[in-house]
Amino acid sequence: MDYFSSDFKLGILGGGQLGKMLLYETRKWDIHTKVLDPSDEAPCKIASNEFFQGDLMDFDAVYQLGKKVNVLTIEIENVNLDALEKLEDEGLKVYPPTQALRIIQNKAKQKLFYTDNDIPTADFHRFAYKSEIGDSVANGGLTLPFVWKAAQFGYDGQGVKVVRELADLEGLPPGECIAEEMVPFKNELAVIVARSANGEVKTYPVVEMEFHPEANQVEYVICPARIPDHVADRAREIALKVSKKIAHVGLLAVEMFQTQDDRILVNEVAPRPHNSGHYSIEASYTNQFEQHIRALLGLPLGNTDSKVAGIMVNLVGSEGHTGDVVYENMETIMGLDGVTPHIYGKKQTRPFRKMGHVTIVDKDIDRAREVAQQVKETIKVISR
Ligand code: ADP
Repeated sequence: MDYFSSDFKLGILGGGQLGKMLLYETRKWDIHTKVLDPSDEAPCKIASNEFFQGDLMDFDAVYQLGKKVNVLTIEIENVNLDALEKLEDEGLKVYPPTQALRIIQNKAKQKLFYTDNDIPTADFHRFAYKSEIGDSVANGGLTLPFVWKAAQFGYDGQGVKVVRELADLEGLPPGECIAEEMVPFKNELAVIVARSANGEVKTYPVVEMEFHPEANQVEYVICPARIPDHVADRAREIALKVSKKIAHVGLLAVEMFQTQDDRILVNEVAPRPHNSGHYSIEASYTNQFEQHIRALLGLPLGNTDSKVAGIMVNLVGSEGHTGDVVYENMETIMGLDGVTPHIYGKKQTRPFRKMGHVTIVDKDIDRAREVAQQVKETIKVISR
């Protein structure tokens, strides 16, 4: 099939920043796109060929978009799966396939999938209702502390809470959830696996998330991870196993914990471009967004190696600021070597909202890390 400057249509469910960065690549190749998103101010609006406003969980909205395209993909997991399944039954190429999304959309199902397939993951209990947790603690089935996770619709840490005493459960949603063993990890790592519609597979290098020592917030994504080779090899091996078992097409980002004794436990996966791969736009031979499109269309996968060390700093809304966004000190950070800011185009900031990111590249990873710190300390996302 001819994709370039042709009648071919790629559909994308979700019009946020991941979609926007995917569209830089479809524009590069003149591939026609149709995007569905609930927000009239979605970041994708400016770069898609056609934009449709609609609810991603609504059967008709998703089904109607699917009927207008040749291949359908996602940039967010929370979409109507019954519509995707019907489209697939009718012959549409839906990547990732619905069966992969069914496993991933529900964290309890995802965890069961790991245990069923002999993939190392933290121990957990599943509960149909939050109210069942108290009894389980009382009869000794579950011990405190643990990590509560909503089975569905958690995003960017919002469906996750460390529970040290039962009172910590107050105010959390009442529905299906898991209680997971707390892992005192040494590092959080991630590996992106690309799997093409033709079955070709490649992995990106292992990246490391560096945390703020007190705030327990990811501050930097660092590529390559500063870990021993044998740990990196094991992480890639496990990511490949998850990818094979889940049988996705496109990218799969596999988030993992490196334990104190250097075991690897899979935390969760995302079947799409991922925050942990943003560094690749500046640092890799083939960035993750181009790679996702290559994979969906069954084109040869590109080289996943890095040209230089890359570090990403997320730009999130500062605390105490809600309203029209202002990026303070942009010129200062752009004066530093190897610094590229990405602004997603959300007009309104609020505390911790992901508004953009900054990539820092350098041949020397230690130098990149120093500049990343300068960027972090200089730029501010505030309201007018
Ligand atoms: P989300 O889907 O919101 O990204 P995650 O499951 O990735 O949620 O959890 C968010 C963060 O919470 C992780 O990046 C990690 O720092 C922390 N976390 C999650 N599970 C555990 C665990 N079992 N033990 C310790 N920390 C955890």
